[in-house]
Amino acid sequence: MKITIIGTGYVGLVTGACLAELGNDVLCLDLDANKVAILNNGGIPIHEPGLDVIVASNRANGRLKFTTDIEQSVAHGDIQFIAVGTPPDEDGSADLQYVLAAAKNIGKYMHGFKVVIDKSTVPVGTAEKVSKTIASELQQRKLDTASFSVISNPEFLKEGAAVEDFMRPDRIVIGSDNDALGLKAKAVMKQLYAPFNRNRERTYWMDVRSAEFTKYAANAMLATRISFMNELANLADRVGVDIEAVRHGIGSDPRIGHSFLYAGCGYGGSCFPKDVQALERTAREYDQDLLILRAVESVNDHQKQVLGKKVVARFGADLTGLHFALWGLAFKPNTDDMRAASSRVLLQELVSRGATIAVHDPVAMDEARRVLALDFAATPDQLAQIHYVKHPMDALDNADALLIVTEWKAYRSPEFSQLKAKLKNPIIFDGRNLFDPIDMADAGIEYHGIGRSVLT
Ligand code: NAD
Repeated sequence: MKITIIGTGYVGLVTGACLAELGNDVLCLDLDANKVAILNNGGIPIHEPGLDVIVASNRANGRLKFTTDIEQSVAHGDIQFIAVGTPPDEDGSADLQYVLAAAKNIGKYMHGFKVVIDKSTVPVGTAEKVSKTIASELQQRKLDTASFSVISNPEFLKEGAAVEDFMRPDRIVIGSDNDALGLKAKAVMKQLYAPFNRNRERTYWMDVRSAEFTKYAANAMLATRISFMNELANLADRVGVDIEAVRHGIGSDPRIGHSFLYAGCGYGGSCFPKDVQALERTAREYDQDLLILRAVESVNDHQKQVLGKKVVARFGADLTGLHFALWGLAFKPNTDDMRAASSRVLLQELVSRGATIAVHDPVAMDEARRVLALDFAATPDQLAQIHYVKHPMDALDNADALLIVTEWKAYRSPEFSQLKAKLKNPIIFDGRNLFDPIDMADAGIEYHGIGRSVLT
């Protein structure tokens, strides 16, 4: 099938590469000429396991191409995926300017019949706005031979496992209209996703608005589980309970399940924070206050400060002259994505109190340099308090403590005797509960986890 992907970011590039891998003829458009140049020169602008291999092989066999030419991209695909960003606006609502710009371009250049797919995470009612935008362009062109239908097909992939998630989805949610064009588009979608439904049917068909809502409901639920556990972990710290034991104890109930119950130093990334906010904003437009989600957000804001607070409780408010090691900058493992990462909040806190920090991340260091330069644009002296090291163990030299923010596999089994020898003080602040407090006590390491105070 001939497919155009509009927006070649985390979602667009993975979608394009995976659909090309399945035999489709895919053209990816991006307005960022630098990104397109990297891809056309055989590079990959993001870190995503397994993506480089399928991008390279499908570029080589001619099924995956990249362009900045809008007219060419609209002409190419009978299916037009919109996978552009939907960042939060100032009031927390999803900023639809990129989605509607993409829709406008489709309307401006299209001929014949197009299936237009909203893959971006967009609030209820966006498909209608996309439809109106395309229709108004067609009207201006007085082109009544062209037709289209807008489908909602939200993406559920996880960064760090995006290729695997796309190729083996738990579910495919498709919202379509029931008019003649909607049914025509639905038939195209069935054909497009047929390879994913061979073992079992994974597609959930519904109306467009319900599909748009489903994506927000899923992310809001996951964020809720995390904030719930984080709030309990903070209480566990006060009452002398090990939240990890509690996690096992409750997760074994199949009604609760084990996934997404990890306490830590807060969730980040490009999706949970903005999607929770956008859903709250939608509710307010309809005169409803989402009390649970308001709490989820504020618990998370607080949780991103928890490691910094633990450091201050241990070392005092003035950290001048103290030096720390920080392992993990990305918002989660297996990605270089730094959007809304907890490390950024922690670094602000520590350097503004006078500390110096040696930081390490297996893949996010370049992105961290870019993002932190913006975070500290007004205080370059503070930026200079952050040093990057190539090996995690090198960060430990003369550090007053080790802080862990991202649960990369490479950090899970350090040589503790070596770690202890390198640190000035054998102290670990573990924002992801990677280690066992008993093992730490046995190793002579002072250990501060999240909700694990029973054993320290
Ligand atoms: P991203 O910022 O990585 O990529 C978006 C790309 O769109 C950028 O490269 C940008 O240059 C390009 N772009 C913007 N306007 C354009 C236009 N008019 N024409 C062509 N290209 C344009 O964003 P992302 O992380 O891939 O997210 C995209 C959407 O998918 C968002 O709505 C997001 O919420 C959703 N989503 C993201 C994830 C994730 O894990 N990143 C998962 C599920 C859903």
